[in-house]
Amino acid sequence: MNGDPISRIVIVGGGTAGWMAAAAISRIMGELPDLTITLIESDAIGTVGVGEATIPQLIGFNKLLGVDEREFVRETHATYKLGIEFVDWLRLGHSYVHPFGSYGIDMKGIEFHQFWLRGRALGEAAELDDYSIAVAAAKAGKFLWPRPDQPNSPLARLSYAFQFDAGLYARYLRRRAEAQGVKRIEGRVTDVSQDGETGHVDAVTLESGERVEGELFIDCSGFRALLIGQTLGVPFTDWTDWLPCDRAVAVPCTLAGANEPLTRSTARPAGWQWRIPLQHRIGNGHVYSSTHMSEDEATAILLANLDGRPLAEPRHLRFTGGLRQRAWEKNVVALGLAGGFLEPLESTAIQLVQAGIARLMSLFPTTAFAPVEMERYNRETEEAYTDIRDFLVLHYLASERDDTAFWRYCRNLDPPDGLKEKLAMFRSSGRVIREHNELFTETSWLSVMVGQGVQARGYHPAAALLDEDETRRRLGHIREVIATTVSQMPTQEEFLAQNGSA
Ligand code: FAD
Repeated sequence: MNGDPISRIVIVGGGTAGWMAAAAISRIMGELPDLTITLIESDAIGTVGVGEATIPQLIGFNKLLGVDEREFVRETHATYKLGIEFVDWLRLGHSYVHPFGSYGIDMKGIEFHQFWLRGRALGEAAELDDYSIAVAAAKAGKFLWPRPDQPNSPLARLSYAFQFDAGLYARYLRRRAEAQGVKRIEGRVTDVSQDGETGHVDAVTLESGERVEGELFIDCSGFRALLIGQTLGVPFTDWTDWLPCDRAVAVPCTLAGANEPLTRSTARPAGWQWRIPLQHRIGNGHVYSSTHMSEDEATAILLANLDGRPLAEPRHLRFTGGLRQRAWEKNVVALGLAGGFLEPLESTAIQLVQAGIARLMSLFPTTAFAPVEMERYNRETEEAYTDIRDFLVLHYLASERDDTAFWRYCRNLDPPDGLKEKLAMFRSSGRVIREHNELFTETSWLSVMVGQGVQARGYHPAAALLDEDETRRRLGHIREVIATTVSQMPTQEEFLAQNGSA
């Protein structure tokens, strides 16, 4: 082996990122006899305290940890999520859903949406949303687990995620991590020492004077970026020109209004507002651009648009969209907010933590810290952030809104190159292209392209394999089967009552 095995891992930070890392690494590597994992967190500093919506990949992470889904739903007061509804994003009064799972059913080896595009060309009026069981179920307030064992049912093509209390999730993971041997130290890190020769971090010192030594440090210290930024000085790549929102104000409120398994994002004059219903409250927040709106105005808009009664004082957050130029530098790997931030429009932050952990596990170093492993880690991390950035930019760029300076700025953005190509391809032939196994699927790109009014001028020639009548008949049949299936599904409340109400 090139180098010795790592025997001491130190995780700095106990927010969602820190405890996800601690729970996963101790689960996968905890039985190595000479490995110790220590997590340091400061109760006085606390956590960012927002972040409640997820995407389906979290199910895989929970499975890896051996988490029982019913227990998880109960412990984190979770609800189910079948997609995100975008209200007023294309234009005021318009809405669409980015659903999980896929649309319709592929036919003759061709993607379903090509037949839908042909149907549109033939004058079929139904919207793409009408071919998604996730959209139909979400709007009807219904939920049921997918049935991959029933390939002819639309339930085979359903997928879901959760909306939960991220603080409770971190606490839940902490219990599991500690049971798997992770040592927790409470206290504020006040000093970081580096090896004089290599510059590697070799220890952190707490306010109490306690010194914690390690060979691999995982920086989960949130926006402070204590190790990767403050100590190692890895520069931050700023994407504000593409993603101009740089502030958020968040407030939970009492349950009221529709209880659909859906996150809602409503466009506002200088940003957008989230609504995330949990079992016991609704999470709300307003993400906005400080260039275009004041904090007072943003807060007033949020408070005027709550379904229920506020449960706390509004909490204000500042951020910059972008990422560290190198997420892994020397013997420090940054996860979560310490590594980068993309606004929560598509609920990707927790998934980025999960992907970072998976990448670290697959490229796990020895004390030699081989550059080839670090370079790959950094390249893949940058690709993951870039792909998501492009997807987020699409939402803004393709809007028709010109009612405020903010929306005029967004409409006139010069798209990143990858997005330019995706838009050109879709406009030409309705084809959706994906890069190197990127996070968002064809369904996701399609839903937002179509939802944001991007027009495909053509469709795949093979969609004409079905004649016109047969195309109309099959499209109608798919809508009918979806409607019938949804009518037989339980409501989310009924489902939760049976499977994990808190
Ligand atoms: P934090 O929660 O900030 O934790 C940092 C930790 O480091 C804390 O334990 C703190 O005590 C510790 N620490 C810092 N400095 C020191 C020190 N000197 N000594 C000791 N300990 C220290 N994600 C989603 O997936 N879905 C969402 O819907 C979503 N919405 C969001 C909305 C907003 C406005 C924001 C800002 C984020 C959102 N996120 C969302 C992101 C999500 O909240 C975070 O990615 C996630 O909580 C991880 O945060 P973290 O653990 O990196 O940082």
